[in-house]
Amino acid sequence: MTSRRTRDRLIARLRDMGIDDERVLQTIKKVPRHLFIEEALASRAYEDTALPIGYGQTISQPYVVALMTQALFAERPLAKILEVGSGSGYQTAILATLAAQVYSVERIGALLQTARRRLVTLGYRNVSCKLSDGNQGWPEHAPYDGILVTAAPAEIPETLVTQLAVGGRMVIPVGDVDIQELWLIRNTGTGTSRSRLEDVKFVPLVTGRE
Ligand code: SAH
Repeated sequence: MTSRRTRDRLIARLRDMGIDDERVLQTIKKVPRHLFIEEALASRAYEDTALPIGYGQTISQPYVVALMTQALFAERPLAKILEVGSGSGYQTAILATLAAQVYSVERIGALLQTARRRLVTLGYRNVSCKLSDGNQGWPEHAPYDGILVTAAPAEIPETLVTQLAVGGRMVIPVGDVDIQELWLIRNTGTGTSRSRLEDVKFVPLVTGRE
């Protein structure tokens, strides 16, 4: 169920759905998604679906992970990334494969602990995690070349926009609980440019820590 063939099938599906960045596809093929979910669900790890990770949260659907990662890295390599919503740590691992340093914040302590343990066990040395409200970003390490938000606010938090480096990019789902739009925000140096990618469904970005 977690075999090479199963992973190849997932990659073929992502290609069919329009993902064409080879670095992203190879990273998704390599990162062991089955180790980021409970054992009871591991047989479904390479299906293209979101799965529960406890506390009412989900590990994102592989297609959405691929879409967001592809949009984030589309222009140039990014050295320093902020992720908001560590969850299972799966997307964190994908980012850590593609960037030099990843900072990830999560508001649910138990999820953060598990994610951190997994990332250490799997040998990701370039990840720092923190328990905090991601609406505030992680100002100490700003500015970031890339910011990826994996929970949806009703509106784009301005604090996050201010933590983008010049030329930096943010990928963020925005909207109400039922449906959101995925947005790409760029810091142009003189302001920001914003473009809409597609409709997605995420858990809400909650305000405050648990
Ligand atoms: N990228 C994760 C997706 C997890 S779901 C993965 O691949 O598994 C989104 C996560 O965002 C949840 O774990 C949720 O607790 C977290 N979250 C929601 N609001 C938050 C906030 N204000 N600050 C930090 N994390 C938040």
